[in-house]
Amino acid sequence: MADRKVDYLLIGGGLASGNCARWLRESGAEGSILLVGREPDLPYNRPECSKGYMQGREERDDTLFRPPSWYAEQGVEALTKVSVMALDTDTRVVKLSNKEQIEFGQALLATGANVRRLNVDGCHLDGIHYLRTLGNTDTIRSDAAGKRVVLIGGSYIACEVAASLTELGSTCTLVMLEDVTLSRGFGEQAGRYFQKVLEDHGIAVHGGDELERFEGADDRVSTVVTKGGLALEADAVVVGVGVNPDVSLARAAGLSIGERGGVEVDSRLRTSVPGLFAAGDIAEYESVVHGGERIRIEHWDVAFNMGKTVALNMLGRDVAHDVVPYFFSDLSDWASLEYVGPASSWDQEVVRGSIDEGEFSLWYLVGGRVAGALSVGRSDDLEAARRLIASRKEIGEPGARALADLSSDLSEL
Ligand SMILES: Cc1cc2nc3c(=O)[nH]c(=O)nc-3n(C[C@H](O)[C@H](O)[C@H](O)COP(=O)(O)OP(=O)(O)OC[C@H]3O[C@@H](n4cnc5c(N)ncnc54)[C@H](O)[C@@H]3O)c2cc1C
Repeated sequence: MADRKVDYLLIGGGLASGNCARWLRESGAEGSILLVGREPDLPYNRPECSKGYMQGREERDDTLFRPPSWYAEQGVEALTKVSVMALDTDTRVVKLSNKEQIEFGQALLATGANVRRLNVDGCHLDGIHYLRTLGNTDTIRSDAAGKRVVLIGGSYIACEVAASLTELGSTCTLVMLEDVTLSRGFGEQAGRYFQKVLEDHGIAVHGGDELERFEGADDRVSTVVTKGGLALEADAVVVGVGVNPDVSLARAAGLSIGERGGVEVDSRLRTSVPGLFAAGDIAEYESVVHGGERIRIEHWDVAFNMGKTVALNMLGRDVAHDVVPYFFSDLSDWASLEYVGPASSWDQEVVRGSIDEGEFSLWYLVGGRVAGALSVGRSDDLEAARRLIASRKEIGEPGARALADLSSDLSEL
């Protein structure tokens, strides 16, 4: 027997839940809304953990999705430091870590992701950090600012943190499997541009190498040893080697987990249980803008927009999630990138603008169709990219030539 019943239960205190609560109210929902999150903070903008908040340019309150007063004003009950421990899809009751049992009318599962942890010799030494939360940022800032820091990984988190810590006076060295930073998502041509930006700011980059072990003194990390034979002195280490969607609650509840490790949902973000939705990093959804292909994306804008789609569908609007996935990343204020796609593979890259001058868009084509586009300083190009991705229009060689020609009007493609 549940202690009480709510109309809308939002499981997970992140962006997808926060924006779902917002859109429920903005779209006229009058029932009770309960958001349950296990972190100490109300929903916040996680990207700031490696950017403005890490650099000290933003206060903790600046990162919040909505100020604390908003929740009371909107009649949204938000619990922090409380976990949903179990979800029973038959009785539609959840058990909370504060011992409450809550029955729900409809629910959103948005439990986000957990960092992948390394399991090598020395991995338990002090001074080795992972980054997912504001609290992690506080620890990294106090432990690594102004020191010699080795970053493991060549993607967003490691690159962004290297840039932010450099701004805080740290001497940063990056070790990664790939030959060139950020090349997994963007290819080597774009990756070389970003790597040069990092190197021009004094960050040493070691590509094509792999972590072998950590060595320490007095239980604290002192050296990072690589399989390629490097022994890098380190006062602190930050590991950024990806995340795993947190599907533990969903799995235990018997929901279907897809090939990409996420909770399987349809184009409306519905699970197989009526009135139960999933969104954000855990949602493996049928993307109507990718011909119905099932994808899972770990980015801010996707979680944000999915929160809205779920709210509308909870209110019976029956809308497909049809937003072309977008994301951004900043290397301090040295370089900013934006991207729409995603292109998992491509057979042609077309540059519009000048990579050398740091103002370009890079287009990823598969079989003459646009699958993704990266922009550095050319945000306006992304509108055409969104349209071309969603339409799946074959633009072929004439289209590719037009993309490369700055005098061509992209709206005509
Ligand atoms: C350091 C960092 C920088 C980033 N930078 C960018 C960027 O520049 N651009 C970009 O597009 N994306 C970026 N991202 C990714 C983006 O922040 C995520 O994709 C987004 O936050 C996902 O939102 P979400 O609501 O799905 O999950 P989350 O934000 O992870 O929120 C899920 C919440 O649910 C909680 N939770 C989990 N299980 C339970 C439970 N059983 N009970 C209660 N609560 C639970 C979690 O603790 C967490 O607080 C970044 C991420 C990080 C960590």
